[in-house]
Amino acid sequence: MNAVLKYSSPDKSGSGMTNSLDIKLTNNFYLKEFVISQVAERHGYMNEPNGKQIENLRLLCVNVLQPLRKIIKVSIFINSGFRSFDVNAAVGGRFNSQHLEGKAADFIVTSMNLIDVFNIVLQKLSFDQLIYEFGKWIHVSWNSELNRKDVMISKKVYGKTVYEKVSCDRLKVVDNK
Ligand SMILES: [Zn+2]
Repeated sequence: MNAVLKYSSPDKSGSGMTNSLDIKLTNNFYLKEFVISQVAERHGYMNEPNGKQIENLRLLCVNVLQPLRKIIKVSIFINSGFRSFDVNAAVGGRFNSQHLEGKAADFIVTSMNLIDVFNIVLQKLSFDQLIYEFGKWIHVSWNSELNRKDVMISKKVYGKTVYEKVSCDRLKVVDNK
């Protein structure tokens, strides 16, 4: 885990810049948590956000993840943050996924019930989309003044992903095992 400190892009990407993965986005969140991707490593895909995408990740932390961290006082583990086009395609992400812009993150909290964490975000924080994904992780996005406050649950129905809108202010679903 401690081997990679610098993330350099080959010149062919055009950016020619080297981002330090140790950039701190907020008190408890580092850029590397949103960029390092097992899928990218496995396939040899680039997964380097540009300045605008890093700024979007920072705004997501400032407005949603760090305030949540402050409330729950336990670690939040980012499963997926920024995704390059290739990484997004490899994980079956939607073509217009906000992960492509650095505006969304999927996370888990191992020391709390995920539904409780979901309800805290729902009741106490502002966001663009909040999705309880297959009972396994939480997807949250931030889109500044364009926030929609969409709340959904995703499920697999006959192998297809279905999004169900939630209109109440508290999810009571029993955690499906
Ligand atoms: Zn997601």
